Parts: sequence; C-alpha cells; structure tokens
Amino acid sequence: MNIVNRIDELRTMLTAEKTNGKTIGFVPTMGYLHEGHLSLIQAARKENEIVVISIFVNPLQFGPGEDFDQYPRDIERDETLAREAGADYLFYPTVVEMYGERPMATVTIHERTDCLCGKSRPGHFDGVATVLTKLFNIVVPTRAYFGLKDAQQVAVVEGLIRDFNFPIELVGVEIKREEDGLALSSRNINLTSDERTEAVHISKCLFKIEEAIASGIIPEVAVAEGRGYLQGHITGTIDYLEALSYPELKPITDVRETIIVAAAVQYSKVRLIDNVIITHEQPRG
Ligand code: AMP
Repeated sequence: MNIVNRIDELRTMLTAEKTNGKTIGFVPTMGYLHEGHLSLIQAARKENEIVVISIFVNPLQFGPGEDFDQYPRDIERDETLAREAGADYLFYPTVVEMYGERPMATVTIHERTDCLCGKSRPGHFDGVATVLTKLFNIVVPTRAYFGLKDAQQVAVVEGLIRDFNFPIELVGVEIKREEDGLALSSRNINLTSDERTEAVHISKCLFKIEEAIASGIIPEVAVAEGRGYLQGHITGTIDYLEALSYPELKPITDVRETIIVAAAVQYSKVRLIDNVIITHEQPRG
C-alpha cells in the first residue's frame, strides 16, 4: 500500500494507473478505522482494480464547539487496517496541503440540509461538500463508497455528483453494527461506559419504529411512540428523531415512498447518529 501525503504525488500515481485502464474505487474517511470503514474498502476492493482510501479530519465540517480536537486519531493503526483490508493507496494530507492557509472557494448545498444533521450542524454539509469536491477532483475515481450510517451525507453527495457532473458512480453501503445493534462509529470511543451501555436503545428504538411502520402504523404515530421509548431508556438528549422521505428528506406524503427514520443523541462528549431506511419493496419470488 502506498501512503501519500501530497496532492500532486497522488495525482501522478493515479494518472498512471488510469492510463493503464484501471478502475478506481475511492473511500473517503476521517480515520480511526473500524469495521464500517473496512466494509466500504471491501466493497471497493470487489468492484475496482485500484482502491484509494483517504484519511482527513476535515476542519471545515466541524462547527464552533464541536469535537474537531477530540476526534480520535491513530494513523499507525489505520495504516495497518487499511493495508489488511486491501487498499492500494492511503491518502493522508495535512490541513495546509488541502486548504493552504485559507480556502478561497467553497461549496454550498441548497437542498436536503434544512433538517436532521444539517439543521443541528449549520455549515456541516457545505464543509463535507467542499472537501469531497476537492477529493473527487484529486482522485477522479470510477466509484465512490459512502456508508448509509450517514444517510443524509449520501443524499447530499448524490446531489453534488449530479449537479457538478462528476463522472463518478456513488455506492451506498449498509450500516455495520456492534452485536447489540449500536452503529459502529469512530466516536463511540468517547462514550462513557454507562453511555455505551444505554446507547443500544437508539438502534432498538429505530428498529421498533421500522417494525411499527411495516405493520401499517402511520410514521408520525410510530415516531411519537419511539420517542417515548427512547426518552424512557436513555439519559442523553435527543437532538432529533424523525421520519422523512428518502433521499429527498421532505415530510412524508405517501407511506409507499422510501422513508428514513433517523435519530441523533447528544451525550457528554459525543453526538451519535443512526437510521433505518424503509423501502417497501415487495419480496421477490
Ligand atoms: P467517517 O470516517 O466517520 O467520516 O466515515 C467515513 C465513511 O465510513 C462514511 O461514508 C461513513 O458513512 C462510513 N461509515 C461510518 N460508520 C459506518 C458504519 N457503522 N457502517 C457503514 N459505514 C460507516
């Protein structure tokens, strides 16, 4: 695995790969890798000849008072995990390499960001879209892999790729969970042990709502019941618990459309997010 810190170096190496006709799968991350990230690398490995992973804790997507400084980092461990998962290139730039002293141009997202994390974290998705625009232009991958754990991000990236005509296929990958159901996240390490124990109820609550909606209960009612359950089982603060259409992220007008039920819970040092997507697809056969 090649570890590259410089943009021009990565460009030269990947241009050579592309000249040889190779397809490139790209997995952007903020590092502190876990099984969720590794499942993205594995998916990219299956479908492409070359796999590029980036590790960059992007300051532009953290608001004032958020956990940019506390965000866990361990590049040596990440190198080993990325190599074992089969990555060919690990791109690990510094903030100055990516942005210079101060970015002159940034990207603004106009839709799908007035709700969920976009509402609670103003400017977050503009920061995400800006760094991804840069990374897409640097790597120019055939396919880019994103986890559905960050489903709003996937919805935003879909619009970004479409509107800016990036010649990239977007691949959304299922959420990887701990055995008890907690969605894997680099941030889980910053939970206290009591918080970690009770955090299981976030996914439990989402699965209950999913089941209720599948059994015909209207989403609004199912979510209200889910909120009661969650409030009764956790000490963290519910930032949001909502059902919306997906990927549009609008109020649900037809229960047959694809629905996301998404939750965010604020703990002492960490904000956790999770979701379920309900597709209403008829079973085949
Ligand atoms: P992050 O390092 O948190 O920015 O995440 C990098 C990528 O990994 C994003 O596309 C995330 O959605 C994805 N990811 C993070 N956690 C999970 C998970 N538990 N399951 C699947 N994908 C994940």
